[in-house]
Amino acid sequence: MKVTDHIAQAKDTLISFEVLPPLKGKGIGALYKHLDPLMEFKPAFINVTYHRSEHIFKKKADGNFEKVVIRKRPGTESICAAIMYKYNVDTVPHLICGGFSVNETEDALINLRYLGIDNVLVLRGDAAKNESTFEPEPGGHRYASDLLKQVVNLNSGVYLEEDLKSSQKTDFCIGVAGYPEKHFEAPNMETDLQYLKSKVDAGADYIVTQMFFDNEKYYQFVKDCRAIGITVPIIPGLKPIYNKKQLTILPKTFHIDLPSDLSKEILKCKSDEDVELVGQEWLLMQSKDLKKHGDVPVLHFYTLGKPHVVANVVKEL
Ligand code: FAD
Repeated sequence: MKVTDHIAQAKDTLISFEVLPPLKGKGIGALYKHLDPLMEFKPAFINVTYHRSEHIFKKKADGNFEKVVIRKRPGTESICAAIMYKYNVDTVPHLICGGFSVNETEDALINLRYLGIDNVLVLRGDAAKNESTFEPEPGGHRYASDLLKQVVNLNSGVYLEEDLKSSQKTDFCIGVAGYPEKHFEAPNMETDLQYLKSKVDAGADYIVTQMFFDNEKYYQFVKDCRAIGITVPIIPGLKPIYNKKQLTILPKTFHIDLPSDLSKEILKCKSDEDVELVGQEWLLMQSKDLKKHGDVPVLHFYTLGKPHVVANVVKEL
């Protein structure tokens, strides 16, 4: 079922989770163990992230270096299918521009359709680890809006091969990313919001936000989106904070601020167990406030290795 249908039919704020595919070489068992305690909360859907390949240079016996392509977390599409069939829950694979040609993207979408997956979250992806700025694959997409248009085309039965006659239409519900604290490359919030609007105008059905720790930023973002005519559901992305290192890693990686009330409490903590409790309390406070606020269709939790923290929070909601 589509994310938007879940939202349309909901009587209360829904819950959804986001997980990473297992590291290459690991089985799917650990992921099931991660999800098992969360399934009692009947998530409307589960997102599975996509991780592009990286290039590394490996020293050979003769002293020369060879370029090696490694993909640490393959399998997004099949993990989605596995989760969907094991738990009878809808899944949302993330699909990125980076590392994909348009033909590979089309093949991935065809596979998702065969697997019975109804949703995709379309993203640009970040720059490859060895590149300073995002570079599309030769014959690939530069922006999420370009990838989105390819999905919209396929939803209308338009495949890359123009002479493909009587082609089956796909029917993907399409999500896109939004940034309550601005995408780090955008020159200003207004420009970023206009690009977000162009994704919605091109056919995006809903928006999921980058994580934030200050609900006021989300409320302002939703207000600004509504003011420029974005009417689709906007789903807040929420993450538990659980160690002191995240005080610097999260702002650096995700270009977000942590409120001083939160950072002060974390700095007082003597151990990461204490930080986890502070993070859990903060997440609960954010979630309760969002639920109360209205115009919040789903609380989307980035579970990232801390399912018990998320479970403790959802239990209290
Ligand atoms: P875009 O919408 O393409 O925007 C990128 C930048 O370009 C922005 O600054 C925007 O303002 C600007 N822009 C957009 N359109 C245009 C245009 N036409 N002309 C000029 N500028 C333009 N990354 C992964 O690799 N895998 C994941 O699974 C993943 N999941 C994510 C989930 C969520 C909810 C979020 C918020 C992010 C996720 N990311 C993921 C990270 C994401 O790929 C990065 O934030 C990336 O840098 C931007 O992706 P986007 O889809 O927002 O890009």
